[in-house]
Amino acid sequence: MQTDNFDEDLKFTVQRPPAYGELTDVLPGLYWVRLPVPLRLNHVNCWLLDNGPGWTLIDCGMNTDDIFEIWDKLWRGLLRSRPLQNLTLTHAHIDHIGFAGQLVKESNCAVRLPFAEWLNGWMMWHEREEGLTDQFASVMKRNGASDEEAAAIMAAQRPSKYLGLRPPREFTRIKDGDVVTMGGREWRVITAGGHSPEHASFYCDKDKILIAGDQVLSHITPSVIVPSAQPDANPMKDYLDSLARFEELPPDTLVLPSHGLPFRALHTRLRQLREHHQARLDDMASFVTERTSAFAIAQEVFPRVLHENPRQAFGEALAHLNMLASTGRLTRDVDATTGAVTFAPV
Ligand SMILES: [Zn+2]
Ligand SMILES: [Zn+2]
Repeated sequence: MQTDNFDEDLKFTVQRPPAYGELTDVLPGLYWVRLPVPLRLNHVNCWLLDNGPGWTLIDCGMNTDDIFEIWDKLWRGLLRSRPLQNLTLTHAHIDHIGFAGQLVKESNCAVRLPFAEWLNGWMMWHEREEGLTDQFASVMKRNGASDEEAAAIMAAQRPSKYLGLRPPREFTRIKDGDVVTMGGREWRVITAGGHSPEHASFYCDKDKILIAGDQVLSHITPSVIVPSAQPDANPMKDYLDSLARFEELPPDTLVLPSHGLPFRALHTRLRQLREHHQARLDDMASFVTERTSAFAIAQEVFPRVLHENPRQAFGEALAHLNMLASTGRLTRDVDATTGAVTFAPV
């Protein structure tokens, strides 16, 4: 995630966020709960929808003690008399799904998310358990890391403090175009790739509200990372293509993003997100002055992050390079004998 310039043009509905854990009215029957996240991005927004006899919660935060206390307090207090009926998840990143196992255990609620996100949740849970594997080292080496460089990165990794619980074992699958009823409103599911394989956003046509998840954020740009399991994937194309889906929505749509503040200038934001990625692609292209590798570029562009969070730094460099190669701005070559992947200016 990268911080953009704060933009006054986005028509924010509030100027500052509510305190963590405070139940905040957004619209009748729809509440905002902002939760603390112990990562560089320090919060996540969750949405509580009043179904009458109970509640639907969209995303639930990580499994930290702070978040446990917040949900515990809300359920003992304000929400005591009516149960959590359904937990709906936009995608499987740990700041959105990490607490899901605990919530299901406590409340026995039903769970709803897209199939690829459920699988992705399990994959990422295994990745956190295992740490970086030899396969990740092999991808780095095929992309230009020396044995010593790959070994140094592998040796520098520490186990994640926030392993997360296992994702829920049972769920209802939602798909693009499905209509789900939550909090007395009908919401159309819009799934999109790029940030996560099958990220779900929810659009209410009647009241023009978009629960955007991470696909359209207000102050930051969603991260777009090539996963080590598919090093030749092109998620940047998926992400940029996904923006066209949101351009079809009305310009005065109220956007409720998972990070940042609610805003109304959807089309302005979509244009900014496109421009941001275009500028980053141009930057990245300017680093490729001769035949080079994704590892060399990651080292040049993200030297610190490459050691702290190699999946992110390496995956982000590769996301830009694969996109530049797919649009003909760079060439991408795979050595037939060694499998070594290089990029070069056209
Ligand atoms: Zn995310
Ligand atoms: Zn997020």
